[in-house]
Amino acid sequence: MRIGVLAAQGAFAEHIATLHKLQVEALPVRLLQELRVLDGLIVPGGESTSISHLMLAYNLMSEIRSLAKSGLPVFGTCAGMILLANKISDSDEVEPIGVMDITVRRNAFGRQVDSFETELKIPALGEKPFPAVFIRAPLIEQASSEVEILARLADGTIVAARQGKLLASAFHPELTNDLRFHQYFLDIVAGHQ
Ligand code: GLN
Repeated sequence: MRIGVLAAQGAFAEHIATLHKLQVEALPVRLLQELRVLDGLIVPGGESTSISHLMLAYNLMSEIRSLAKSGLPVFGTCAGMILLANKISDSDEVEPIGVMDITVRRNAFGRQVDSFETELKIPALGEKPFPAVFIRAPLIEQASSEVEILARLADGTIVAARQGKLLASAFHPELTNDLRFHQYFLDIVAGHQ
């Protein structure tokens, strides 16, 4: 199994390190031809405006969009989740890949709590709560009936979701030692989930 991590900007090295811990081949992706050999793709956190501009500049946007539409599994974390959304409610600065039926809001947690860590219940990952790290995180405001909600904060805010082979989290599983979220994505790639 070979997983690409979009390496335009942001926390791509941490995703590659996490995939290596799971003994999976992981490649940084910057070129169009590197997309053609992948079984799955991770779009990392960082700054969604920059990532989107660089995807356009590297001619990766339309290819990633069509691969995702034709079934390539894609996992977006934080800025990567913003890029998967087909609607961003509070910003027209970002051209998203736009393949998940979700509406997201950027920088949704305000200044005081713009970064925090919390133990999240994620039933798809088992009983044990998941240590979720939020950094200037977005939230999911709306999701269509095609979308499975995987996690909510205590107040009901949606922070992780799945639609077919597309997976999104508002938080950063690559910044913790808990490998279960990445394993869940690999199970989707392998067709076990
Ligand atoms: N605030 C960033 C954005 O809007 C996302 C932050 C992150 O990826 N940690 O793109």
